[in-house]
Order: sequence, then structure tokens, then C-alpha cells
Amino acid sequence: MPAIPLAWSEAQRLHDPAAEIWVGVRTPAVEVSARADAIRLSLEQAGHPVVSATPPAERALLAVHDRTLIDFLAGAWDRWERSGLPQDPGQDRVVPYFFPHPGLLGTLAPALPVATWARTGQFAFDTMTLIGPGTWEAALGAAGAALTATELVLDGAPAAYACCRPPGHHVTRSAYGGCCYLNNGAIAAARLLEQLGGPVALLDVDAHHGNGAQTIFYGCAEVVTGSVHVDPGAGWFPHFLGFAAEHGEGEGEGANCNIVLAPGSGDAPWLGAVDELVDWARGCAPRALVIALGVDAAAGDSESPLRVSAVGYRAAGRALGLLGLPTVVVQEGGYDLATIGALVRETLAGLDDGLAAAAAGATRVRHG
Ligand SMILES: [Zn+2]
Repeated sequence: MPAIPLAWSEAQRLHDPAAEIWVGVRTPAVEVSARADAIRLSLEQAGHPVVSATPPAERALLAVHDRTLIDFLAGAWDRWERSGLPQDPGQDRVVPYFFPHPGLLGTLAPALPVATWARTGQFAFDTMTLIGPGTWEAALGAAGAALTATELVLDGAPAAYACCRPPGHHVTRSAYGGCCYLNNGAIAAARLLEQLGGPVALLDVDAHHGNGAQTIFYGCAEVVTGSVHVDPGAGWFPHFLGFAAEHGEGEGEGANCNIVLAPGSGDAPWLGAVDELVDWARGCAPRALVIALGVDAAAGDSESPLRVSAVGYRAAGRALGLLGLPTVVVQEGGYDLATIGALVRETLAGLDDGLAAAAAGATRVRHG
């Protein structure tokens, strides 16, 4: 099989979050464009062809996000700059300070705040996810990469990889956070659903729960969502959801699967969970697969307590490939610049192996 193509957008470089604000403290950003550069270098050296991403059609974004969120994100930086906030009080990134908490409002719907500095809290669910001058353009670039990879698969490639940066899997229909602005994986899944019919499986192996896709598709049977991640009950992001008891609701009842892992889990328990997720997805009889590939479960990554090796990531790629489905891979987390490229490369190599084995098995069945 030819090497899995890599969809790439130069616009990802325009996003410089500069910092994260965590417990009120401004700490250096870890979601930086050097992540994407390291991945691209590693994949190019391994012979993966690079395909330039085309900008996304707005309707592809509106398939999974509210118009109000899109409009907010598109204009957030310009409004912030025009308001003079970078000079007084000296905040050079868009950041929330006040949130329309259900406990604040009771039964009232929130009013649209007039103050620029109040508006952000309507759309941001954390303080870590800052918006600067090029953030929106980069988020569009990442979504465009996801859609370009999706079109490659719809055109017949067995698999395609989108080097999405900023990542997307924490974004819901109406709110952003977790260093994410647009849900690239959900956008890809919606496009596959539109073209191929359902169900489409969206499986997330980032170290953190894929809360965005879960919430977007929670009442939907046509996109089945699953996530293997460090247990939020052990104190990890996203804290408020991501538990094993969340199975979906209404028509989506049974169409969500969370498998949680204890901090410190290494290859054996993590791969056991990935195999369990793959078996669950197989039972849903999907027509296509989106993999939300975070490599921050790796040992040595600063952002999670899981201890997965590169060998483990390769085995996970193979297990996912054995589903034998048209597969779009979107990049999520992974913050260790020294290893991120090799981890993605190994996962794609495993995916290639698994897809080839699945195709050979299918051929044997047809002839046998
Ligand atoms: Zn993560």
C-alpha cells in the first residue's frame, strides 16, 4: 500500500497561544506549532506524501457547531483588540473572566453580554484556551486539514492523516476549551456520515477524554463515539465527565463508550482498553472510522500520567486498522517535542499493517 498521505495547512503556524492560564497563573503554552513541524518532519522522512489542505466550507463546520460559536471565534480577537484590552489592563490574549453558570441564572436564559470582556465566558469552558491574532485562521486550517484528509479517503485512499493543530477533541457544539477551538474529528465524522451513511465510528485514544465528540453526538446513533483515557475520577481533565457510565441517550443510547484507566497505566492495560474499544466499535458495524490520535498517553509526556511506549502506539494503530474501514486520522494531543513525531509515525505504521492484514483477510474470505 502507498504510504498514508498527510494533510497539512500552513495556517496552523498563525496560532500562538503564548500561554495558558491555570488556577489563575499564566504558564507557558505547550500547544505550540513546533509540535506539527516535528510530526511533519518525521512523516516526511518515512515517505508519507504531504497534501496541502484546502480551507473548509462553512457548512462543514456548522454540521457540528452552533453558528453563535463560529461567529464568536471568528471575531473574538478583533473585538478584543478594538476594545483596547491589550493595552488596558494589558491582556494580550482573549480570556474569560465571568461564566453564565447554571447556578447563576436559574431558569433564565443568559443575556448576550455587551462588554467584550464578559462575552468570552459564554463560549469558553476553561481559562487555558487563549485566543490571539491568528487563532481563528489556524483553527480553520486544522479543520481544513481534517476535511482534506476525509476527501482523500472518500476518493479511495484506505487511510489519510490530518496534522491538525490546534487540536479539537474537547470542543462541543457550543463551547471551546482544552486548547481546542473547532472539533476537527467531529467535522470529519460528519462529512463521512454525509457521504457514506452511518454509522461512522469516532474513536479517541488521546490521554484525555474526547468530551467534545461525546457531547456533540450523545443523542445520535449515526456517529458512535468511544474514548480510552485517564480516569477523570482520579483528578484528570475534563473532570466533570468522561466516566464509564456515560452510554449516550435517546436515539444515541448505547452509542458512546468510555474506558477509563488508572494513572500510571502502561502498554498492557492501555492496549487492553484499546482492544476493548475496537471490539465495541466492531459490534456497531461502522462504515468508516475517524481516529482522534493523541499521543500524550506516552511515557514522558508532560500532560498525562499514562506510560504508553512507541511500541504500544504501533500496536494500537494495528488494532484500529484491523477494523478494515476507510480511516481518517486526526491529530489531537501530544506535547513532548522529542518524541511526538516518532509516536505518530509508529501509530500510522501500525495502522497500515492492520489495514493490510484486514484487506488480506477479506480477500481470503472471498476466495476461500
Ligand atoms: Zn490530551
